[in-house]
Amino acid sequence: MKILNNNSSSFEETDADRRRGILDDNALSVDLASAVAGDRQLTEAEKHRLDDLRASRGLRFYSDLLYSITHQFFPPEVAEGLWTDVLRHKKQLSTVLGRNVRTVVAALDYLSNITGDMCSPTLVGEAVIEEIVELSLRDGLTGLFNHTYFFQQIDLEVRRSVRYGAIVSLMLIDIDDFKGVNDTYGHQEGDRILAGMGRTLIRMARDSDICCRYGGEEFAVILPLTNVRKAGVIADRIRGKMAEHLPDGQTVTVSIGVASCGKMTRTCRDLVENADAALYHVKRSGKNRVEVWLPTSDGKAHLKKRRKKP
Ligand code: GH3
Ligand code: MG
Ligand code: MG
Repeated sequence: MKILNNNSSSFEETDADRRRGILDDNALSVDLASAVAGDRQLTEAEKHRLDDLRASRGLRFYSDLLYSITHQFFPPEVAEGLWTDVLRHKKQLSTVLGRNVRTVVAALDYLSNITGDMCSPTLVGEAVIEEIVELSLRDGLTGLFNHTYFFQQIDLEVRRSVRYGAIVSLMLIDIDDFKGVNDTYGHQEGDRILAGMGRTLIRMARDSDICCRYGGEEFAVILPLTNVRKAGVIADRIRGKMAEHLPDGQTVTVSIGVASCGKMTRTCRDLVENADAALYHVKRSGKNRVEVWLPTSDGKAHLKKRRKKP
C-alpha cells in the first residue's frame, strides 16, 4: 500500500487516499510487508525505513501492512491484533504443510475462511492494481488527471496550506470559443485540439504541478509551494504555448484565471471560486489572457490583469 508521507499522517485518511497511495513511490509494497512478516530478510535500508514508518504511523503501521496485502482497510485499533493472528496462522499452516507458507496466502486464508473479514477475494498482481488505480485517475482523451483526482488533491493541498502555511496556487484554463471549433471543424477536430493542449500542459508544467482535465474544455493546474505572482507568470507562459492551429491556420487560444490560498481563501471551494472569478473576468474582457485574483489589505480582492504578450 501507500503510506502517505509524514506530512499527511495527521489528516484523516479516506479510502481514496489509500488507493492513491498505491502509486506513491514510497508505498509499502506487498513484498516489503511480506518481508516484515519474515518471508525474506530485510536489508539495512529497509530496516531504517520501517523504523521511520513505525515511528510516524504508530498503530496505523499495522493498518498499512494489512492494506498492502489485502487492499482492504482495517482500523488501527484492530489491525495490530489481526496482523499478529495472521502471523500465527502462517506459522501453523507452514507446520501442517511442511513448507514456508507466504504471508499473502496465510492472510487470504485467515481473513476469508476464518474471520470472514474479506469477502470474495480475487488474485490480482500488484502491477495490475497499480495500472487500474492509475487508469481510474486519468482522463482518457488527454491523459491528464481527472476531475475526481483534482478535487482530492486540491482539498489535500488547501488543508496542508491552512495547517502548515504551505502556499498553493490554482490555475483554471478554459479554451476560447471552443463550441465554434466543433461547429465549424467537427467534433473530431475538437478532440484533437483538446488532446494537443493536454500534451502541451504536461510538457510545460513542472514535475510538482498537478495537471487535470477539470471538465469538457477546461483544465486545472494545482501548483504546490507557488505564490500567486509566480503562478501568474507560469500561467502566461503556458497560455502562449497552449495555442493550437486549426487546418485553415486559425488559432485556438485559452484564457486562464489564477488564485492562491491565503488569509481570505481557506477552503478548496474558495480557491476554485476565486480562480473561476478571475477566469470569468478574462472571458468578459477579450479572452486569450491571464488574470490573477489578488486579496487586498482592506479584506477585499481585486483582479490583476496580466499584459497579453503576442
Ligand atoms: P468561451 O470562450 O466563453 O469559453 O466559449 P466556448 O465556446 O469555449 O464555451 P461553451 O461553454 O459555449 O462551449 C464549450 C464547448 O466545448 C461545447 C462542447 O461541445 C465542447 N466540448 C466539451 N467537451 C468536449 C470534448 O470532449 N470534445 C469536444 N470535441 N468538444 C467538447
Ligand atoms: Mg468552459
Ligand atoms: Mg470555453
